[in-house]
Amino acid sequence: MTDSTSPLAAGAPLPVYKRGLDLVRDPLLNKGTGFTVNERATLGLRGLVPPQVVDIEDQERRILQNFQRQHDDLDRYTYLETLHDRNETLYYRVLLSHLNEMTPIIYTPVVGLACSQFSHIYQRSRGMYFSADDVAHFAEMAQNWPEDEVEIIVVSDGSRILGLGDLGANGMGIPIGKLSLYVVGAGLEPRRTLPILLDMGTNNQALRDDPLYLGRRLPRLTGPAYETVVEAFIRAVHARWPHALIQFEDFSNDQAFQLLERYRRQVLCFNDDIQGTGAVTLAGILSALRITKQTLSEQRIVFLGAGAAARGIADTFVAGMMAESGMTLDAARRQIWTLDSQGLVTLDRLDSLSEHKRPFAQDSAPLPDLLAVIHAVRPTILIGVSGQAGSFSEAVVRAMHSYCERPILFPLSNPTSKAECTAEQAYEWTNGAALFASGSPFPPVTRGGHLLVPGQCNNMYIFPGVGQGVVSCQASKVTDAMFYVAARTLAGLVGEDSLAVGRLYPDLTLIREISVQIAVAVCELAFAEGLAGIERPADLEAFIRARMFIPEYLPYVAV
Ligand code: NAD
Repeated sequence: MTDSTSPLAAGAPLPVYKRGLDLVRDPLLNKGTGFTVNERATLGLRGLVPPQVVDIEDQERRILQNFQRQHDDLDRYTYLETLHDRNETLYYRVLLSHLNEMTPIIYTPVVGLACSQFSHIYQRSRGMYFSADDVAHFAEMAQNWPEDEVEIIVVSDGSRILGLGDLGANGMGIPIGKLSLYVVGAGLEPRRTLPILLDMGTNNQALRDDPLYLGRRLPRLTGPAYETVVEAFIRAVHARWPHALIQFEDFSNDQAFQLLERYRRQVLCFNDDIQGTGAVTLAGILSALRITKQTLSEQRIVFLGAGAAARGIADTFVAGMMAESGMTLDAARRQIWTLDSQGLVTLDRLDSLSEHKRPFAQDSAPLPDLLAVIHAVRPTILIGVSGQAGSFSEAVVRAMHSYCERPILFPLSNPTSKAECTAEQAYEWTNGAALFASGSPFPPVTRGGHLLVPGQCNNMYIFPGVGQGVVSCQASKVTDAMFYVAARTLAGLVGEDSLAVGRLYPDLTLIREISVQIAVAVCELAFAEGLAGIERPADLEAFIRARMFIPEYLPYVAV
């Protein structure tokens, strides 16, 4: 434990070991102008903050005024991160009450811009940097972090930051942002979260030439040298925090799949780009199937794109089909067709295919483009994870609709400018019959007096609840089945009124309730399968709720 007891658990006054400026400068404990008269007297704070005692509602009002005065999104990001570094309770309170407005700032899409500028807008260190240069010291470095009870680590090597490619150590914005979403979405305690950047160097020459760049100015390590550093990193953090969940984030495809395969049975870990994306997409599909009253096993599914997201989604669909109808792995995979930049992924391309594409290679003649595949396969579901804007053309969507009454269209590429089609196009080209969700949000559409509300397939619906569930019951591993129950739970939370307007996901402002239900479902599974490291609490839901951080000031008592 640190000596800074955090103001996180609900209940009685918190004993604090710090006083005076040490207290004001600790973002986990700081209340700024919110310290009470009594706290100012007993904790050596008199004169260190302005005389007026301000309650958290008024502090929030001031933050909002300043937030709205910022000139652009990068300024808004920097402003919020400065608050994050100054007063975490207030930061999370503001985020939680302005979720729709602020999550696009602290995470996608603005975090991408922030990462590209990270070394220039840098103000203060947050989290840890494990540089390949320090590999011999990783074990002792882990001891430098003051908190013994870390529950979630999000780690990136900066090699594939969103759609922006290799941003090296600038990628640190991603673990920081993702962990903020964990706290906001599922109430993980801020002090128990740890963002980490694994600095392997960068192949981004512009960064290496940038005099302000803060990372290693060397080409990226590859092969055994890369693997040695990752291994040392995993050993160091696992030895220091054996129960911590490690989430791999934004690793390039060549590493992402291998790392997941190598470590998922050794330590508690998962990859959100692969598994979280799979679960949130499956949830949207299950909601769509509630409308069409069909089963997953009946679907023919085409993916434009065959990268990390496609593989994660395809694997989750397969797990769903197998669980739903007892299909074999092979039979389930045969209902999925993937296309990469070379066309349909087929068996006769096997020798030149990356490992992660192979399981979905179809025994088919080569088909050069999406339209040809639509005519050959007659899909019921079309998923876009290609980053190719406009590739669900009018011809493609109309062809799909000619074979299928309610085509399920998920153009998931981010940001909005990369979406394979817009919501309006999907509804227009199918006379309002499309069941639609996208990676980036689209506004509702009115057609012939009917309101149609596009869903946003946002990973934030899934990973916070899964993470909270896994660490709450101290699960020994993260399984695919956990993502499957998370998807089913999420789909079950979409109300009939939402389905009536084609909306396939619940309102994101309900995220805390959604996360509670997902965490409970994940824990139930872990208990049922003997993976939990604690005894099952009598009231599991109450147990999860009691663990959740609520961003409000608790009274402090001096120790
Ligand atoms: P990736 O780089 O791993 O994969 C991209 C794939 O697209 C590759 O297989 C590539 O061969 C293929 N591709 C490129 N050009 C193509 C073309 N012209 N025709 C067909 N295929 C083509 O990236 P990823 O992580 O799989 O992400 C892909 C997209 O999905 C991104 O835009 C990302 O923002 C989005 N995404 C959305 C969500 C979500 O909505 N929840 C989650 C994850 C990823």
